Amino acid sequence: MSDKPVRVRFAPSPTGPLHMGGVRTALYNYLYAKKHNGTFILRIEDTDQTRFVEGAEDYIIEALKWCGITIDEGQSVGGEYGPYKQSERQEMYKPYAEQLIANGKAYYAFDTAEDLDKMRKQAIQMKMPNWQYNSLTRSSMQNSLTLPEDEVQRKLENGDPYVIRFQMPRNIDVRFEDEIRGWVVVNTNNVDDKVLFKSDGMPTYHLANIVDDHEMKITHVIRGEEWLPSAPLHVLLYEAFEWEAPKFAHLPLLLRPDGNGKLSKRDGDRLGFPVFPIDWLAVDGEKYSGYREQGYLPGAFINMLAFLGWNPGTTQEIFSLEQLVEAFSLERVSKAGAKFDADKTKWFQQQYLRAESESSLAKMLREEVGEAISDVSDAYLEQACHLMKERATFVEDIYTEGQYLFENPTEFDEKTLKKKWKDGAEDLMNEWAKELGSIEEFTSENIEKSFKAFLEAKEMGIGKVLPLFRLALTGKGMGPSMFEITALLGKEESLKRKETNIPAIVKLKG
Ligand code: GLU
Repeated sequence: MSDKPVRVRFAPSPTGPLHMGGVRTALYNYLYAKKHNGTFILRIEDTDQTRFVEGAEDYIIEALKWCGITIDEGQSVGGEYGPYKQSERQEMYKPYAEQLIANGKAYYAFDTAEDLDKMRKQAIQMKMPNWQYNSLTRSSMQNSLTLPEDEVQRKLENGDPYVIRFQMPRNIDVRFEDEIRGWVVVNTNNVDDKVLFKSDGMPTYHLANIVDDHEMKITHVIRGEEWLPSAPLHVLLYEAFEWEAPKFAHLPLLLRPDGNGKLSKRDGDRLGFPVFPIDWLAVDGEKYSGYREQGYLPGAFINMLAFLGWNPGTTQEIFSLEQLVEAFSLERVSKAGAKFDADKTKWFQQQYLRAESESSLAKMLREEVGEAISDVSDAYLEQACHLMKERATFVEDIYTEGQYLFENPTEFDEKTLKKKWKDGAEDLMNEWAKELGSIEEFTSENIEKSFKAFLEAKEMGIGKVLPLFRLALTGKGMGPSMFEITALLGKEESLKRKETNIPAIVKLKG
Protein backbone atom coordinates (compact mmCIF):
# COMPACT_ATOMS: atom_id res chain seq x y z
CA MET A 1 0.00 0.00 0.00
CA SER A 2 1.24 3.46 -0.75
CA ASP A 3 2.00 5.69 2.20
CA LYS A 4 -0.30 8.47 1.03
CA PRO A 5 -2.98 9.33 3.57
CA VAL A 6 -6.06 7.23 2.89
CA ARG A 7 -8.87 9.22 1.29
CA VAL A 8 -12.03 7.45 0.22
CA ARG A 9 -15.28 8.73 -1.10
CA PHE A 10 -18.87 7.62 -1.19
CA ALA A 11 -20.20 9.06 -4.43
CA PRO A 12 -23.94 8.52 -4.77
CA SER A 13 -26.07 10.04 -7.48
CA PRO A 14 -29.11 11.78 -6.01
CA THR A 15 -31.63 9.84 -8.06
CA GLY A 16 -33.90 8.72 -5.24
CA PRO A 17 -33.68 7.18 -1.78
CA LEU A 18 -30.45 5.39 -0.98
CA HIS A 19 -30.85 1.61 -1.16
CA MET A 20 -29.32 -0.34 1.72
CA GLY A 21 -26.69 -1.62 -0.72
CA GLY A 22 -25.61 2.00 -1.09
CA VAL A 23 -25.48 2.38 2.67
CA ARG A 24 -23.25 -0.69 2.83
CA THR A 25 -20.90 0.90 0.27
CA ALA A 26 -20.78 4.03 2.41
CA LEU A 27 -20.19 1.92 5.52
CA TYR A 28 -17.28 -0.03 4.02
CA ASN A 29 -15.71 3.20 2.79
CA TYR A 30 -16.15 4.72 6.23
CA LEU A 31 -14.74 1.66 8.02
CA TYR A 32 -11.76 1.55 5.68
CA ALA A 33 -11.07 5.25 6.16
CA LYS A 34 -11.31 5.12 9.95
CA LYS A 35 -9.26 1.95 10.18
CA HIS A 36 -6.43 3.70 8.36
CA ASN A 37 -6.85 7.09 10.03
CA GLY A 38 -8.05 8.36 6.71
CA THR A 39 -10.74 10.68 5.43
CA PHE A 40 -14.28 9.75 4.43
CA ILE A 41 -15.71 12.04 1.77
CA LEU A 42 -19.27 12.37 0.55
CA ARG A 43 -19.39 13.50 -3.05
CA ILE A 44 -22.69 14.04 -4.79
CA GLU A 45 -22.57 12.94 -8.42
CA ASP A 46 -25.38 14.87 -9.99
CA THR A 47 -24.18 15.41 -13.54
CA ASP A 48 -27.12 13.54 -15.02
CA GLN A 49 -29.76 16.20 -14.63
CA THR A 50 -32.46 14.04 -16.17
CA ARG A 51 -32.25 11.69 -13.19
CA PHE A 52 -31.97 14.30 -10.46
CA VAL A 53 -34.55 13.88 -7.69
CA GLU A 54 -35.38 16.67 -5.27
CA GLY A 55 -34.63 15.77 -1.67
CA ALA A 56 -32.42 12.79 -2.47
CA GLU A 57 -29.24 14.51 -1.30
CA ASP A 58 -30.80 15.41 2.06
CA TYR A 59 -32.04 11.85 2.34
CA ILE A 60 -28.51 10.50 1.86
CA ILE A 61 -27.10 12.83 4.49
CA GLU A 62 -29.84 12.01 6.98
CA ALA A 63 -29.50 8.28 6.39
CA LEU A 64 -25.73 8.35 6.98
CA LYS A 65 -26.26 10.42 10.09
CA TRP A 66 -28.78 7.96 11.47
CA CYS A 67 -26.30 5.14 10.85
CA GLY A 68 -23.58 7.00 12.73
CA ILE A 69 -21.42 7.35 9.63
CA THR A 70 -19.83 10.76 9.98
CA ILE A 71 -18.72 12.67 6.94
CA ASP A 72 -15.25 14.20 7.15
CA GLU A 73 -15.50 16.21 3.95
CA GLY A 74 -18.58 17.02 1.94
CA GLN A 75 -20.97 19.71 0.85
CA SER A 76 -22.67 19.72 4.25
CA VAL A 77 -19.48 19.89 6.32
CA GLY A 78 -16.97 21.62 4.05
CA GLY A 79 -13.38 20.62 3.30
CA GLU A 80 -10.33 21.65 1.32
CA TYR A 81 -11.27 19.97 -1.93
CA GLY A 82 -14.77 21.32 -2.49
CA PRO A 83 -17.22 21.85 -3.91
CA TYR A 84 -18.25 18.27 -3.26
CA LYS A 85 -21.17 18.34 -5.60
CA GLN A 86 -20.45 17.83 -9.27
CA SER A 87 -23.03 20.27 -10.57
CA GLU A 88 -21.09 22.96 -8.71
CA ARG A 89 -17.82 21.84 -10.27
CA GLN A 90 -19.23 21.97 -13.78
CA GLU A 91 -16.66 24.44 -15.11
CA MET A 92 -13.78 22.19 -14.14
CA TYR A 93 -14.39 19.30 -16.44
CA LYS A 94 -14.32 20.69 -19.96
CA PRO A 95 -10.62 21.66 -19.97
CA TYR A 96 -9.83 18.09 -19.00
CA ALA A 97 -11.89 16.72 -21.86
CA GLU A 98 -10.12 19.16 -24.22
CA GLN A 99 -6.77 18.06 -22.89
CA LEU A 100 -7.60 14.52 -23.97
CA ILE A 101 -8.56 15.75 -27.43
CA ALA A 102 -5.24 17.62 -27.70
CA ASN A 103 -3.42 14.41 -26.73
CA GLY A 104 -5.27 12.35 -29.30
CA LYS A 105 -7.12 10.32 -26.65
CA ALA A 106 -10.58 11.71 -27.31
CA TYR A 107 -12.47 13.38 -30.13
CA TYR A 108 -15.49 15.52 -30.93
CA ALA A 109 -18.48 13.65 -32.30
CA PHE A 110 -21.24 15.59 -34.03
CA ASP A 111 -23.62 12.75 -34.82
CA THR A 112 -27.19 13.51 -33.94
CA ALA A 113 -29.47 11.21 -32.03
CA GLU A 114 -31.17 10.42 -35.37
CA ASP A 115 -27.83 9.50 -36.98
CA LEU A 116 -27.07 7.09 -34.17
CA ASP A 117 -30.53 5.64 -34.30
CA LYS A 118 -30.17 5.06 -38.03
CA MET A 119 -26.89 3.22 -37.56
CA ARG A 120 -28.40 1.00 -34.91
CA LYS A 121 -31.39 0.16 -37.08
CA GLN A 122 -29.18 -0.62 -40.06
CA ALA A 123 -27.05 -2.88 -37.92
CA ILE A 124 -30.13 -4.74 -36.72
CA GLN A 125 -31.22 -5.26 -40.34
CA MET A 126 -27.80 -6.70 -41.01
CA LYS A 127 -28.28 -9.03 -38.06
CA MET A 128 -25.72 -7.24 -35.89
CA PRO A 129 -27.91 -6.09 -33.02
CA ASN A 130 -25.20 -4.71 -30.75
CA TRP A 131 -24.06 -1.73 -32.72
CA GLN A 132 -21.44 0.33 -30.94
CA TYR A 133 -19.66 3.57 -31.57
CA ASN A 134 -16.15 2.12 -31.49
CA SER A 135 -12.83 1.64 -33.24
CA LEU A 136 -14.56 -0.18 -36.10
CA THR A 137 -17.50 2.12 -36.69
CA ARG A 138 -16.15 5.56 -35.77
CA SER A 139 -14.60 5.99 -39.22
CA SER A 140 -18.01 6.15 -40.81
CA MET A 141 -19.40 8.69 -38.36
CA GLN A 142 -19.37 12.49 -38.12
CA ASN A 143 -16.46 13.29 -35.85
CA SER A 144 -13.20 15.15 -35.59
CA LEU A 145 -11.35 12.02 -36.72
CA THR A 146 -13.25 11.78 -40.01
CA LEU A 147 -14.16 15.39 -40.85
CA PRO A 148 -11.66 17.91 -42.23
CA GLU A 149 -10.18 20.11 -39.56
CA ASP A 150 -11.71 23.34 -40.88
CA GLU A 151 -15.16 21.78 -40.86
CA VAL A 152 -14.68 20.70 -37.29
CA GLN A 153 -13.66 24.23 -36.38
CA ARG A 154 -16.64 25.67 -38.21
CA LYS A 155 -19.03 23.34 -36.43
CA LEU A 156 -17.55 24.23 -33.07
CA GLU A 157 -17.72 27.94 -33.81
CA ASN A 158 -21.29 27.58 -35.05
CA GLY A 159 -22.25 26.02 -31.79
CA ASP A 160 -23.34 22.76 -33.43
CA PRO A 161 -24.12 20.23 -30.75
CA TYR A 162 -21.40 17.72 -30.06
CA VAL A 163 -20.22 15.23 -27.50
CA ILE A 164 -16.65 14.32 -26.64
CA ARG A 165 -15.88 10.62 -26.88
CA PHE A 166 -12.99 8.60 -25.57
CA GLN A 167 -11.01 6.98 -28.38
CA MET A 168 -11.00 3.43 -27.10
CA PRO A 169 -7.91 1.65 -28.43
CA ARG A 170 -8.52 -1.57 -30.39
CA ASN A 171 -7.72 -4.97 -29.02
CA ILE A 172 -5.68 -4.28 -25.95
CA ASP A 173 -6.03 -6.06 -22.63
CA VAL A 174 -6.65 -3.62 -19.81
CA ARG A 175 -5.44 -5.05 -16.52
CA PHE A 176 -5.87 -3.84 -13.00
CA GLU A 177 -5.70 -5.41 -9.61
CA ASP A 178 -8.93 -5.23 -7.67
CA GLU A 179 -8.46 -5.39 -3.90
CA ILE A 180 -11.30 -7.90 -3.63
CA ARG A 181 -11.30 -9.70 -6.96
CA GLY A 182 -7.60 -9.88 -7.75
CA TRP A 183 -6.47 -9.30 -11.31
CA VAL A 184 -9.15 -8.22 -13.72
CA VAL A 185 -8.44 -8.29 -17.44
CA VAL A 186 -10.79 -6.83 -20.01
CA ASN A 187 -10.22 -6.62 -23.74
CA THR A 188 -11.09 -3.23 -25.20
CA ASN A 189 -12.82 -4.78 -28.19
CA ASN A 190 -15.87 -5.14 -26.02
CA VAL A 191 -15.90 -1.52 -24.93
CA ASP A 192 -17.32 1.35 -26.97
CA ASP A 193 -16.04 4.90 -27.35
CA LYS A 194 -17.71 6.19 -24.22
CA VAL A 195 -19.05 9.71 -24.12
CA LEU A 196 -17.02 11.83 -21.68
CA PHE A 197 -18.68 15.16 -22.21
CA LYS A 198 -22.31 15.68 -23.20
CA SER A 199 -23.99 18.12 -25.51
CA ASP A 200 -25.68 19.78 -22.51
CA GLY A 201 -22.28 21.02 -21.32
CA MET A 202 -22.05 18.48 -18.54
CA PRO A 203 -19.44 15.77 -18.15
CA THR A 204 -20.62 12.17 -17.99
CA TYR A 205 -20.20 10.11 -14.87
CA HIS A 206 -16.94 8.61 -16.21
CA LEU A 207 -15.11 11.88 -16.78
CA ALA A 208 -16.37 13.67 -13.70
CA ASN A 209 -15.68 10.65 -11.52
CA ILE A 210 -12.05 10.33 -12.66
CA VAL A 211 -11.33 14.04 -12.54
CA ASP A 212 -12.81 14.38 -9.07
CA ASP A 213 -11.11 11.30 -7.70
CA HIS A 214 -7.85 12.74 -8.96
CA GLU A 215 -8.46 16.26 -7.70
CA MET A 216 -9.76 15.06 -4.35
CA LYS A 217 -6.69 12.81 -3.98
CA ILE A 218 -8.75 9.67 -3.58
CA THR A 219 -6.55 6.68 -2.79
CA HIS A 220 -9.13 3.89 -2.80
CA VAL A 221 -12.26 3.57 -4.87
CA ILE A 222 -14.57 1.25 -2.97
CA ARG A 223 -17.88 0.82 -4.78
CA GLY A 224 -20.52 -1.66 -5.89
CA GLU A 225 -19.91 -4.47 -8.32
CA GLU A 226 -22.16 -2.79 -10.87
CA TRP A 227 -19.29 -0.38 -11.56
CA LEU A 228 -16.81 -3.11 -12.42
CA PRO A 229 -17.55 -2.86 -16.17
CA SER A 230 -16.65 0.84 -16.03
CA ALA A 231 -13.31 0.22 -14.34
CA PRO A 232 -11.29 -0.61 -17.51
CA LEU A 233 -12.35 2.70 -19.05
CA HIS A 234 -11.40 4.46 -15.83
CA VAL A 235 -8.00 2.78 -15.84
CA LEU A 236 -7.46 3.93 -19.43
CA LEU A 237 -8.55 7.45 -18.52
CA TYR A 238 -5.97 7.59 -15.73
CA GLU A 239 -3.38 6.47 -18.24
CA ALA A 240 -4.53 9.03 -20.78
CA PHE A 241 -4.17 11.81 -18.21
CA GLU A 242 -0.90 10.30 -16.98
CA TRP A 243 -2.28 10.21 -13.47
CA GLU A 244 -1.72 7.54 -10.90
CA ALA A 245 -4.88 5.47 -10.55
CA PRO A 246 -6.35 4.84 -7.11
CA LYS A 247 -6.77 1.29 -5.87
CA PHE A 248 -10.09 -0.32 -6.78
CA ALA A 249 -12.31 -2.53 -4.66
CA HIS A 250 -15.62 -3.69 -6.13
CA LEU A 251 -18.03 -4.92 -3.49
CA PRO A 252 -20.28 -7.95 -3.96
CA LEU A 253 -23.95 -7.49 -4.78
CA LEU A 254 -26.68 -7.71 -2.16
CA LEU A 255 -28.87 -10.59 -3.21
CA ARG A 256 -32.45 -11.59 -2.53
CA PRO A 257 -32.93 -14.06 0.32
CA ASP A 258 -33.17 -16.94 -2.19
CA GLY A 259 -29.98 -15.79 -3.89
CA ASN A 260 -31.78 -15.21 -7.19
CA GLY A 261 -30.83 -11.75 -8.29
CA LYS A 262 -30.27 -8.34 -6.81
CA LEU A 263 -32.21 -7.32 -3.72
CA SER A 264 -34.85 -4.85 -4.84
CA LYS A 265 -37.58 -2.74 -3.32
CA ARG A 266 -40.08 -5.16 -4.80
CA ASP A 267 -38.56 -8.09 -2.88
CA GLY A 268 -38.78 -6.08 0.31
CA ASP A 269 -42.41 -5.14 -0.31
CA ARG A 270 -43.32 -8.72 -1.17
CA LEU A 271 -41.48 -10.36 1.72
CA GLY A 272 -42.19 -7.66 4.27
CA PHE A 273 -38.86 -6.07 5.07
CA PRO A 274 -37.42 -2.64 4.29
CA VAL A 275 -34.69 -2.20 1.72
CA PHE A 276 -33.97 1.41 2.65
CA PRO A 277 -32.40 2.95 5.75
CA ILE A 278 -35.14 5.52 6.39
CA ASP A 279 -38.60 6.22 5.01
CA TRP A 280 -39.02 8.03 1.71
CA LEU A 281 -42.14 9.21 0.04
CA ALA A 282 -41.70 9.59 -3.71
CA VAL A 283 -43.43 12.42 -5.59
CA ASP A 284 -45.73 9.87 -7.23
CA GLY A 285 -46.86 8.87 -3.74
CA GLU A 286 -44.99 5.57 -3.66
CA LYS A 287 -43.76 4.71 -0.20
CA TYR A 288 -40.27 3.36 0.47
CA SER A 289 -40.14 2.02 3.98
CA GLY A 290 -37.05 2.37 6.10
CA TYR A 291 -35.38 0.49 8.94
CA ARG A 292 -35.46 3.55 11.19
CA GLU A 293 -39.23 3.91 11.04
CA GLN A 294 -39.72 0.16 11.45
CA GLY A 295 -38.08 0.54 14.84
CA TYR A 296 -34.60 -0.81 14.15
CA LEU A 297 -31.74 0.56 16.19
CA PRO A 298 -29.01 2.04 14.00
CA GLY A 299 -26.34 -0.17 15.60
CA ALA A 300 -28.29 -3.30 14.69
CA PHE A 301 -28.83 -2.13 11.13
CA ILE A 302 -25.15 -1.29 10.65
CA ASN A 303 -23.98 -4.52 12.27
CA MET A 304 -26.26 -6.56 10.01
CA LEU A 305 -25.15 -4.61 6.95
CA ALA A 306 -21.46 -5.01 7.75
CA PHE A 307 -21.92 -8.77 7.65
CA LEU A 308 -23.49 -8.70 4.20
CA GLY A 309 -20.30 -9.31 2.28
CA TRP A 310 -17.73 -9.25 5.07
CA ASN A 311 -16.92 -11.40 8.07
CA PRO A 312 -14.31 -11.02 10.79
CA GLY A 313 -12.99 -14.59 10.45
CA THR A 314 -14.10 -15.39 14.00
CA THR A 315 -17.42 -16.39 15.53
CA GLN A 316 -18.07 -12.94 17.00
CA GLU A 317 -21.17 -11.41 15.47
CA ILE A 318 -21.95 -8.37 17.58
CA PHE A 319 -19.78 -5.43 16.65
CA SER A 320 -20.25 -1.79 17.53
CA LEU A 321 -19.26 0.71 14.88
CA GLU A 322 -15.93 1.23 16.68
CA GLN A 323 -15.33 -2.51 16.80
CA LEU A 324 -16.16 -2.78 13.11
CA VAL A 325 -13.55 -0.12 12.37
CA GLU A 326 -11.05 -2.14 14.36
CA ALA A 327 -11.87 -5.46 12.68
CA PHE A 328 -12.58 -4.40 9.10
CA SER A 329 -10.36 -5.25 6.16
CA LEU A 330 -10.97 -5.43 2.43
CA GLU A 331 -9.25 -8.82 2.37
CA ARG A 332 -12.16 -10.28 4.26
CA VAL A 333 -14.78 -8.91 1.86
CA SER A 334 -16.07 -11.74 -0.28
CA LYS A 335 -16.38 -11.83 -4.04
CA ALA A 336 -19.63 -13.74 -3.94
CA GLY A 337 -22.96 -11.92 -3.66
CA ALA A 338 -24.33 -11.62 -0.13
CA LYS A 339 -27.82 -12.99 0.53
CA PHE A 340 -30.02 -10.77 2.65
CA ASP A 341 -31.53 -12.59 5.63
CA ALA A 342 -34.56 -10.94 7.23
CA ASP A 343 -34.55 -13.27 10.27
CA LYS A 344 -30.91 -12.58 10.97
CA THR A 345 -31.65 -8.88 10.73
CA LYS A 346 -34.32 -9.27 13.43
CA TRP A 347 -31.88 -11.27 15.51
CA PHE A 348 -29.37 -8.43 15.39
CA GLN A 349 -32.12 -6.04 16.42
CA GLN A 350 -33.04 -8.22 19.41
CA GLN A 351 -29.43 -8.37 20.54
CA TYR A 352 -29.10 -4.61 20.33
CA LEU A 353 -32.37 -3.98 22.11
CA ARG A 354 -31.29 -6.19 24.99
CA ALA A 355 -27.99 -4.43 25.23
CA GLU A 356 -29.68 -1.06 25.72
CA SER A 357 -29.90 0.25 29.27
CA GLU A 358 -33.31 0.37 30.93
CA SER A 359 -33.18 4.12 31.13
CA SER A 360 -32.47 4.55 27.44
CA LEU A 361 -35.22 2.06 26.54
CA ALA A 362 -37.63 3.94 28.78
CA LYS A 363 -36.76 7.18 27.05
CA MET A 364 -37.26 5.66 23.61
CA LEU A 365 -40.51 4.07 24.71
CA ARG A 366 -41.85 7.43 25.86
CA GLU A 367 -41.04 8.84 22.44
CA GLU A 368 -42.83 5.99 20.70
CA VAL A 369 -45.86 5.53 22.90
CA GLY A 370 -46.22 8.99 24.41
CA GLU A 371 -49.67 9.74 25.87
CA ALA A 372 -50.56 6.22 26.98
CA ILE A 373 -47.71 6.10 29.50
CA SER A 374 -47.40 9.77 30.36
CA ASP A 375 -48.42 9.22 34.00
CA VAL A 376 -46.08 6.25 34.51
CA SER A 377 -43.01 7.10 36.59
CA ASP A 378 -39.50 6.71 35.18
CA ALA A 379 -38.62 4.10 37.79
CA TYR A 380 -41.71 2.06 36.95
CA LEU A 381 -41.08 2.34 33.21
CA GLU A 382 -37.47 1.31 33.56
CA GLN A 383 -38.46 -1.76 35.53
CA ALA A 384 -41.10 -2.57 32.87
CA CYS A 385 -38.35 -2.32 30.23
CA HIS A 386 -36.13 -4.58 32.30
CA LEU A 387 -38.89 -7.20 32.48
CA MET A 388 -39.92 -7.05 28.85
CA LYS A 389 -36.74 -6.44 26.88
CA GLU A 390 -35.82 -10.11 26.52
CA ARG A 391 -39.18 -10.69 24.88
CA ALA A 392 -39.19 -7.70 22.59
CA THR A 393 -37.72 -7.13 19.17
CA PHE A 394 -38.57 -3.45 18.92
CA VAL A 395 -38.89 -0.81 21.62
CA GLU A 396 -42.60 -0.59 20.93
CA ASP A 397 -43.04 -4.30 21.74
CA ILE A 398 -42.19 -3.52 25.36
CA TYR A 399 -45.49 -1.69 25.52
CA THR A 400 -47.58 -3.91 23.28
CA GLU A 401 -46.31 -7.19 24.75
CA GLY A 402 -46.33 -5.85 28.26
CA GLN A 403 -49.48 -3.77 28.14
CA TYR A 404 -50.74 -5.47 31.31
CA LEU A 405 -47.96 -3.70 33.18
CA PHE A 406 -49.76 -0.45 32.43
CA GLU A 407 -53.43 -1.41 32.33
CA ASN A 408 -55.60 -4.09 33.86
CA PRO A 409 -56.23 -6.67 31.11
CA THR A 410 -59.71 -7.14 29.72
CA GLU A 411 -58.92 -10.26 27.72
CA PHE A 412 -57.79 -13.61 29.06
CA ASP A 413 -55.73 -16.22 27.23
CA GLU A 414 -58.14 -18.87 25.99
CA LYS A 415 -55.74 -21.76 26.06
CA THR A 416 -54.82 -21.23 29.70
CA LEU A 417 -58.43 -20.69 30.53
CA LYS A 418 -59.39 -23.98 28.94
CA LYS A 419 -56.49 -26.11 30.08
CA LYS A 420 -55.60 -24.77 33.49
CA TRP A 421 -58.60 -23.08 35.03
CA LYS A 422 -60.21 -26.13 36.57
CA ASP A 423 -62.76 -26.49 39.36
CA GLY A 424 -61.35 -25.07 42.53
CA ALA A 425 -59.21 -22.53 40.73
CA GLU A 426 -61.30 -19.65 41.95
CA ASP A 427 -60.97 -20.62 45.60
CA LEU A 428 -57.31 -21.33 45.17
CA MET A 429 -56.68 -17.88 43.73
CA ASN A 430 -58.71 -16.18 46.42
CA GLU A 431 -56.67 -17.97 49.05
CA TRP A 432 -53.42 -17.02 47.36
CA ALA A 433 -54.56 -13.42 47.17
CA LYS A 434 -55.00 -13.45 50.90
CA GLU A 435 -51.39 -14.58 51.28
CA LEU A 436 -50.30 -11.83 48.93
CA GLY A 437 -52.17 -9.30 51.00
CA SER A 438 -50.28 -10.32 54.09
CA ILE A 439 -46.81 -9.76 52.63
CA GLU A 440 -45.33 -6.74 54.36
CA GLU A 441 -42.42 -5.86 52.20
CA PHE A 442 -43.81 -6.43 48.70
CA THR A 443 -40.61 -7.50 46.90
CA SER A 444 -40.33 -10.20 44.27
CA GLU A 445 -38.18 -12.32 46.62
CA ASN A 446 -40.82 -12.17 49.36
CA ILE A 447 -43.61 -12.89 46.90
CA GLU A 448 -41.70 -15.89 45.57
CA LYS A 449 -41.01 -17.19 49.06
CA SER A 450 -44.61 -16.85 50.05
CA PHE A 451 -45.78 -18.51 46.81
CA LYS A 452 -43.51 -21.49 47.39
CA ALA A 453 -44.77 -21.86 50.94
CA PHE A 454 -48.32 -21.70 49.60
CA LEU A 455 -47.60 -24.48 47.10
CA GLU A 456 -46.06 -26.60 49.79
CA ALA A 457 -48.99 -26.15 52.10
CA LYS A 458 -51.35 -27.05 49.28
CA GLU A 459 -49.13 -29.87 48.09
CA MET A 460 -49.45 -28.59 44.57
CA GLY A 461 -46.99 -28.22 41.71
CA ILE A 462 -45.97 -24.85 40.33
CA GLY A 463 -47.22 -25.80 36.87
CA LYS A 464 -50.78 -26.02 38.17
CA VAL A 465 -50.91 -22.80 40.13
CA LEU A 466 -48.61 -20.27 38.50
CA PRO A 467 -50.56 -20.14 35.19
CA LEU A 468 -53.73 -19.30 37.11
CA PHE A 469 -51.96 -16.54 38.96
CA ARG A 470 -50.53 -15.18 35.70
CA LEU A 471 -53.89 -15.35 33.96
CA ALA A 472 -55.59 -13.48 36.77
CA LEU A 473 -53.06 -10.67 36.91
CA THR A 474 -51.92 -10.30 33.31
CA GLY A 475 -54.49 -12.11 31.18
CA LYS A 476 -51.63 -14.00 29.52
CA GLY A 477 -50.46 -17.57 29.29
CA MET A 478 -46.80 -16.63 29.24
CA GLY A 479 -44.45 -13.84 30.20
CA PRO A 480 -41.55 -12.81 32.41
CA SER A 481 -41.23 -13.69 36.10
CA MET A 482 -44.64 -13.43 37.81
CA PHE A 483 -42.94 -12.47 41.07
CA GLU A 484 -41.25 -9.51 39.47
CA ILE A 485 -44.43 -8.53 37.65
CA THR A 486 -46.42 -8.66 40.86
CA ALA A 487 -43.82 -6.68 42.76
CA LEU A 488 -43.85 -4.05 40.03
CA LEU A 489 -47.65 -3.80 39.96
CA GLY A 490 -47.58 -3.42 43.73
CA LYS A 491 -49.81 -4.88 46.40
CA GLU A 492 -52.71 -2.54 45.95
CA GLU A 493 -52.97 -2.96 42.17
CA SER A 494 -52.44 -6.72 42.35
CA LEU A 495 -55.26 -7.16 44.84
CA LYS A 496 -57.48 -4.82 42.89
CA ARG A 497 -56.94 -6.90 39.77
CA LYS A 498 -57.78 -10.04 41.66
CA GLU A 499 -61.10 -8.45 42.67
CA THR A 500 -62.11 -7.70 39.10
CA ASN A 501 -60.39 -10.44 37.14
CA ILE A 502 -61.26 -13.59 39.03
CA PRO A 503 -65.02 -12.97 38.63
CA ALA A 504 -64.42 -12.02 34.99
CA ILE A 505 -62.58 -15.29 34.35
CA VAL A 506 -65.22 -17.33 36.13
CA LYS A 507 -67.86 -15.68 34.00
CA LEU A 508 -65.92 -16.42 30.81
CA LYS A 509 -65.49 -20.02 31.85
CA GLY A 510 -69.29 -20.16 32.06
N1 GLU B 1 -22.26 7.98 -8.89
C1 GLU B 1 -21.97 6.58 -8.86
C2 GLU B 1 -23.11 5.91 -8.10
O1 GLU B 1 -24.16 6.42 -8.12
C3 GLU B 1 -20.63 6.37 -8.20
C4 GLU B 1 -19.90 5.13 -8.59
C5 GLU B 1 -18.51 5.21 -8.07
O2 GLU B 1 -18.35 5.12 -6.85
O3 GLU B 1 -17.59 5.39 -8.85
O4 GLU B 1 -22.98 4.88 -7.47
